[in-house]
Amino acid sequence: MAGCYVHIPFCKSRCRYCDFFSTTKLSRSNDYINAVMQELSLRKTIFSDILRERDERLTTVYFGGGTPSALCEDNIVRILNAILGALDAQNTIQEVTVEVNPSDVTPTLLGAYRDAGVNRLSIGVQTFDDDRLRMIGRRHDRSMAIRAIEEARRAGFDNISIDLMYGLPNENLSDWNSDIDEAIAIGAEHISAYCLTYEEGTPLYMSMIRGEVSELDDDILNQMHDTVVDRLSAAGIYQYEISNFARPGFYSRHNSSYWTGSPYLGLGAGAYNYDGQHVRQNNITDLDIYIKSTNKAYQAGSAQYLPIEREVLGSCECYNEVVMLGLRTCAGVNINKIADDYQNRFIKIAEGYVAKGLLAKDGDYYKATRSGQHILNIIIEDLMI
Ligand code: SF4
Repeated sequence: MAGCYVHIPFCKSRCRYCDFFSTTKLSRSNDYINAVMQELSLRKTIFSDILRERDERLTTVYFGGGTPSALCEDNIVRILNAILGALDAQNTIQEVTVEVNPSDVTPTLLGAYRDAGVNRLSIGVQTFDDDRLRMIGRRHDRSMAIRAIEEARRAGFDNISIDLMYGLPNENLSDWNSDIDEAIAIGAEHISAYCLTYEEGTPLYMSMIRGEVSELDDDILNQMHDTVVDRLSAAGIYQYEISNFARPGFYSRHNSSYWTGSPYLGLGAGAYNYDGQHVRQNNITDLDIYIKSTNKAYQAGSAQYLPIEREVLGSCECYNEVVMLGLRTCAGVNINKIADDYQNRFIKIAEGYVAKGLLAKDGDYYKATRSGQHILNIIIEDLMI
């Protein structure tokens, strides 16, 4: 289940809550795409060797951002074809996802994606309420979101994910229920539902500091979380990770491979690479340095000149990853995946949470209960070293 992630760090405008690495300098996109192609050509042999050693094949590609759909569709098609060719994956690829903004969706864009082999769209809806969309600075409205989903169906997409966000300023439970109603009615196969966080330095955070908006209480946020879990489950869309829900068979294969520790190739500024064992690297999150350094590395013909930070994961970091990633999934942490040296410590702390009804033991797995999901970050931090 190896995957490839391509980061497209361009947005036509910036949302008020966003602290992701992205830029509105779309004039740099051609240089950027060329650099991504160069990076692929420098990394393909190393990643192919990793796959061969593990007897694995590339099965997923994910274009995330930023906003991949902000670029002309030819760019995505060009990179996708190059990845499938470089990693000999034309016959093994199972899932190709592109994140799209509803306001970019046109029949031409969708047709080009489909023809190139994109078989899954992740549409950034966030909410179906126009006032709240304006408040968080999205550049689409409700009608564009609905039209985008309808266009995608017409173009033949039968695997559509939508992103929703709850805990928006002034939102109440009834507002959130309306969003869930629309999400169910629209028939998405997959829904990601994230709680808004006020990230320091963002325009929305500054509004909060000035007292113009305020964060919702934890009680309401927990009710919103429970509501989405219960209502989607009643509609046949089941939670499989803390923020992710899918109809049977439509879970995100790409994201699931992150949670199960498979190797992945990351291309583009800020993207992560992982060898599936002990080495993780991330590319620099600076557009101009990324482009310039990748050009240089390409001219020198060596991946070692790519602008990366390298992290070697020791046994302690590996333990932390197993705990953190496992507890976010509904299956939980498999104690057999924890190294012997750390098992006793993990079981001792985890059993304390079992006694409080915050974790549950299911065979070899420890997983968060509904109440445990409300304070998942605290539990994970406690279990980590
Ligand atoms: S579209 Fe996505 S990446 Fe771009 S500013 Fe909005 S939230 Fe951030």
